[in-house]
Amino acid sequence: MTKYVYDFTEGGKDDKDLLGGKGANLAEMTKLGLPVPPGFTISTDACRAYLEQGQEPDGLADEVSTYLAAMEEARGKRLGDPHDPLLVSVRSGAKFSMPGMMETVLNVGLNDESVKGLAVVADGNERFAYDSYRRLLQMFGSTVLGIEASVFHDALDELKAARDTRNDLDLTADDLSGLVETYKKLVAEHSGRDFPQDPREQLDMAVRAVFESWNTERAVLYRRQERIPHDLGTAVNVCSMVFGNVGADSGTGVAFTRDPASGAQGVYGDYLQNAQGEDVVAGIRNTVPLADLEQIDKSAYDELLTTMALLEGHYRDLCDIEFTVEHGKLWMLQTRVGKRTAEAAFRIATQLADQGLIDLDEAVARVTGAQLAQLMFPRFDTDAERTLIARGMNASPGAAVGRVVFDSPTATEWAARGDDVILVRRTTTPDDLAGMVAAKGILTSRGGKTSHAAVVARGMGRTCVCGADDLDVDVKGRRFTAADGTVVEEGDVISIDGTTGEVFVGAVEVVDSLVVRYFEGDETAGGDELVQAVTRLMEHADGVRRLQVRANADTPEDAARARRFGAQGIGLCRTEHMFLGDRRELVERLILAEDAKEQQAALAALLPLQRDDFTGILEAMDGLPVTIRLLDPPLHEFLPDYTELAVQVALEEERGEDDPHTRQLFDAVKRLHEDNPMLGLRGVRLGIVIPGLFTMQARAILEAAAARTAAGGDPQPEIMIPLVAAPQELELMKAEVIAVAAEVEKETGTKLRFKIGTMIELPRAVMLAEEIAGSAEFFSFGTNDLTQMTWGFSRDDVEASFFSTYLDKGVFAVSPFESLDTEGVGKLVAHAVSKGRAARPDLHLGVCGEHGGDPDSIHFFDSVGLDYVSCSPYRVPVARLEAGRSATA
Ligand code: ADP
Ligand code: MG
Ligand code: MG
Repeated sequence: MTKYVYDFTEGGKDDKDLLGGKGANLAEMTKLGLPVPPGFTISTDACRAYLEQGQEPDGLADEVSTYLAAMEEARGKRLGDPHDPLLVSVRSGAKFSMPGMMETVLNVGLNDESVKGLAVVADGNERFAYDSYRRLLQMFGSTVLGIEASVFHDALDELKAARDTRNDLDLTADDLSGLVETYKKLVAEHSGRDFPQDPREQLDMAVRAVFESWNTERAVLYRRQERIPHDLGTAVNVCSMVFGNVGADSGTGVAFTRDPASGAQGVYGDYLQNAQGEDVVAGIRNTVPLADLEQIDKSAYDELLTTMALLEGHYRDLCDIEFTVEHGKLWMLQTRVGKRTAEAAFRIATQLADQGLIDLDEAVARVTGAQLAQLMFPRFDTDAERTLIARGMNASPGAAVGRVVFDSPTATEWAARGDDVILVRRTTTPDDLAGMVAAKGILTSRGGKTSHAAVVARGMGRTCVCGADDLDVDVKGRRFTAADGTVVEEGDVISIDGTTGEVFVGAVEVVDSLVVRYFEGDETAGGDELVQAVTRLMEHADGVRRLQVRANADTPEDAARARRFGAQGIGLCRTEHMFLGDRRELVERLILAEDAKEQQAALAALLPLQRDDFTGILEAMDGLPVTIRLLDPPLHEFLPDYTELAVQVALEEERGEDDPHTRQLFDAVKRLHEDNPMLGLRGVRLGIVIPGLFTMQARAILEAAAARTAAGGDPQPEIMIPLVAAPQELELMKAEVIAVAAEVEKETGTKLRFKIGTMIELPRAVMLAEEIAGSAEFFSFGTNDLTQMTWGFSRDDVEASFFSTYLDKGVFAVSPFESLDTEGVGKLVAHAVSKGRAARPDLHLGVCGEHGGDPDSIHFFDSVGLDYVSCSPYRVPVARLEAGRSATA
């Protein structure tokens, strides 16, 4: 039969799966010989069995009896004994600490009889006995019987008001025994049953309530946000009581071995005399700083400090601690490796390494890419005055202040004259791109974390708050209205915090991130202690990682920044941006061309422009590989909108005008219209269908490379063919590119060094990876499309329509567009890797989808043996760190 119960003497800190975090650490402290009150832990196995069967599993009750008897033996008292009661606390404790779950019930075992016995053995201290009893009624009533906690708080407040005091210590034994009667009535009234007088029944009910709290709405929601699996269950700790509320020589407190905000070593914590449990954090009375305990009780203080040092040395990390002093004796009630800010995480990790407690591998493991990302965002000064008007999703972190604009042209115009602007839209589309680039921040009232606005903003490192659905955005009226009625007009200043999702009216003070200043080459920032901690861990991560990190960059400026941030090349240079703006006209000419000659002329006009684009990028990345993707999106994206054109044509007809160009354009748009453009004429299909298009691009790349080589540079272009599904597609394109290369070599007299490869972003390409690798020198996994094509999800549509339901129902715990679906899409990646390498052992492998910057995905890509990940320039340091963490894991 399964063993469900473990004495505190039976486990240790590595048993978190079975005993939960609190139980495992109580056992560890017991093992270390620290003064932990005797107790036992009911395992997570028991919780899972209970939740499955809807009742306590067989044998659990007997086992609890056995361990309870041992505890009674150890403390020399019996649970709820009317003359000298043993009391216990019933405490939840899952593997990961979870605020959504049931809180602790203290003083279990008290009833109308044992309360009198407790007073007698406490030297007649009736006040203490009734204080303990009323606490039990309050905690049991609210957490086990589900009565609104305010019911009890209100009654307590009324009593204090009647006694004309704010301090619970002014209440007498009589006051408290009266309060006990009030509470019992409230329990009966609100729960429809009397407070159970049987101590064992109290215990069993409290244990059951902890089990059930695993599935409360709050707990489920918390797990979803934190990506904690739903099937772990919680343990229950039953711990014999010690009392901090038996007088002035007693008390309770919390302590940290280091400052969790800065990482500095010292005596951090709070202490409260004559108090129990949560009183310290509940703010009912003013606590004193932990250091004051030295005056109050020197011997308890000294023992606590020794214990803190011992725990930090033992856990080799910052610990937080809960303790109680009963008549001068110190008791340890909890410890765990403490939560900390991103800044403290980096400081502490390096400090511990300096102290020799951990090595640098472990120091790198102790910080995360997400924490580094936090340190890289500019932030609002939290001390500054701020007026919150709305909250949305924290889609792309950072702090942005600017004048509100409602459309892309205004954004670019105002930005060009030097204004900082915030682009506010209901949602954004690719048409808003210019405005998004020009804006300091983007605010939308619709759409989730993977909406267009969010994805694009993250890619650009632009601050974005999305889905602030309390905002009524009136784009035509050029204003938006907040829930509290605040109206913000175009030109008004707002501040948005992409790290918290908050929206403020007016300008909030922004402070620069020193870490980014340092990455950008500002040497003065290097003197900062935090920057030094970050640099040291980054250097170590770079030293140990196998996985290379490249950047997705389309312009020389982005390429240069990526390089400053440590990119080892460009993994994705998109060429479609090079067809926008004032080049649209040339693209239109290409599309409207009626014969091969016109087509050639249009392409010839585009060639020098493209060549200049590539020259700049190759120069910025001199000596490093630059993967350039030939044109990928459907052509209609470069033409005017169908409906707009239709209206224009109708208007012109009405006025009797007939602009042949408009008409021609309209016909072309009609001709190019597709019901499913994402599955239509795009990628390599364009290269095959429009003669000369891909060869023009290849020529531009190779001419740029030849010129760089002639100028003494070291260009390393890699020409990438997108959306290949069949080896034949790649072979056709490859033959054309090679022919162009031969021409360019002949024309320029320069020997060219370049690679030809393909994106793997269609399931068919995965299945034919072996054959495709025959003509590809590299694969780059386009995991956005691969996810889209594998799930059959249109990213632009599914997020708004049903992803939130899927997340709610647990179909997936995180959007597969945010973090790679390793179970499905990941298997395809692994398959293509092994087939591709089988055909060509030196096949170079990388990934260039959004996932390249996602920590979990990076660990996966490392594990399947990719050579590099590529992500947006701002994610490069994050990816470097995560690749280092993956290597040391
Ligand atoms: P949480 O997870 O919210 O910290 P705990 O189970 O640690 O909940 O308990 C809440 C409070 O009750 C803590 O301050 C703890 O120190 C105190 N406490 C828990 N068990 C006991 C006990 N056996 N004796 C005295 N105080 C206790
Ligand atoms: Mg606690
Ligand atoms: Mg793609």
